[in-house]
Amino acid sequence: MNVCFITSECVPYAKTGGLADVSGALPKALAELGCAVKVFMPLYDSIDTRLHNLVFSEDLYEIPVQIGNRSVVFNTWFGNLGDSGVKVHFIDCPLYYHRSSIYTSDGDENERYILLQHAAFKIMQRYNWSPDVLHCNDWQSGLVPAMAKNIYHWDELFRESVSVLTVHNIAYQGAFDPQDIYKTGLPSSMVAKGGPLEHNGAMSFMKGGIVYADAVTSVSPTYAKEIQQPQYGAGLDAILRTYHHKLTGILNGIDTDVWSPGQDTYIKPRYTVKTLNKKQRVKANLLKKFGLEYDEERPLFGIISRLTPQKGFELLQPILSHLLQTSNMQLVVLGSGEESSEQFFQLAKDLYPEQVAVFVGYNNELAHWIEAGADFFIMPSRFEPCGLNQMYSLAYGTLPIVRKTGGLADTVIDVYSDPENGNGLVFEDFTSYALLTTIQRALEIYSDSDALETIRLRGMNADFSWTRSAEKYVALYNRLKYA
Ligand code: ADP
Repeated sequence: MNVCFITSECVPYAKTGGLADVSGALPKALAELGCAVKVFMPLYDSIDTRLHNLVFSEDLYEIPVQIGNRSVVFNTWFGNLGDSGVKVHFIDCPLYYHRSSIYTSDGDENERYILLQHAAFKIMQRYNWSPDVLHCNDWQSGLVPAMAKNIYHWDELFRESVSVLTVHNIAYQGAFDPQDIYKTGLPSSMVAKGGPLEHNGAMSFMKGGIVYADAVTSVSPTYAKEIQQPQYGAGLDAILRTYHHKLTGILNGIDTDVWSPGQDTYIKPRYTVKTLNKKQRVKANLLKKFGLEYDEERPLFGIISRLTPQKGFELLQPILSHLLQTSNMQLVVLGSGEESSEQFFQLAKDLYPEQVAVFVGYNNELAHWIEAGADFFIMPSRFEPCGLNQMYSLAYGTLPIVRKTGGLADTVIDVYSDPENGNGLVFEDFTSYALLTTIQRALEIYSDSDALETIRLRGMNADFSWTRSAEKYVALYNRLKYA
């Protein structure tokens, strides 16, 4: 099974969020199941070709693409995703990809990803490589199914290809001026009112993907249901209800080579289910890094997040002082984003310097330390397509405290509602009161070390591997191909 996997970010090359983790791990897991996978992504300015051992393709350069009135030329580089045999093809076009960030709000943002999509087809043509599956991710490759059926259908390489669009986050839809349709090469009728790419008067890459893909997946079963509701669908819920027959949810996995307490290359000491007592030493080391005092009696709560309204930290604002004053809890925060949210955590640190520590910014090593060293991990998301951090937490024996939404609902079982199987704490209402009482329950659990250990081990023993997810994708590919 040949799989063309098109993405705008991929670990270890470029990352802003969970999509990069998926792109770095799913293709490898598919390869292990026997698929031949090629990944296509932009060569952003921030990607160091030497550091990643990327190779300039001597036989694939100066390839022309017409994007509206612009005649664009790109080169290609390739690299390997570890020793998995998965080749990553980088589209090298400084005109579009040498910017100060991965995503921009520049006027030609649509052109940047129109290029990525055409380039993937052109590279496959040069290699004479026929994909069984065109696997697209989010709006940045959402037009691929429409392009396959309307622009490249003459080429027998793509005649039998099926397409899958994975929605990692419905909130980002790639909505552009409909006049720009000419840049895509697709017919202008597609953006006429009610047309397959028209949404609220704009040209929507995401809607185009939903309409034209043979299957639409989302990154958790609950999120796949939620996005069909107005509350979560970010305006595309009606379209998703129309196409519900081709929509399924497949939970992401985690890269257990990178995120497991027994193999983690950052933390000290490492630990496993058999040496769980060492987790306390990681906690002590983590607290030292943050300049907080270690005391076995004090529960440590962790947060690692983009600080955006999606993540729900506004719920903490009215209750954090109360919690810090009425308990001996400590809190370490790693995140960046909205200024008001950063300021809130900074203020908490200033007011309670013995209990709260904050690192504003992005720091992968620190993320590993917090996952391993904290006792509890807080994720009160307003919505969460899948979420990785709660799965990392489970793998590290750190009890997640989550709101019941999206992938959080599919991975964390509330220990009070289900004492036999519970692996964390879950609340339902998006209110500060619900979060407060849940954190208070966590404080109770912390005082019962036997119960705490039992719950920790449940999480650590669960299987969140990519193999399990990849098997579901392969089953879907097979259904589409041979049904
Ligand atoms: P999202 O993709 O919505 O940001 P996920 O939980 O799916 O949320 O994935 C977030 C990923 O980004 C995780 O791997 C997490 O560890 C990482 N991350 C988020 N913020 C930071 C940060 N400030 N420093 C380091 N890693 C971060």
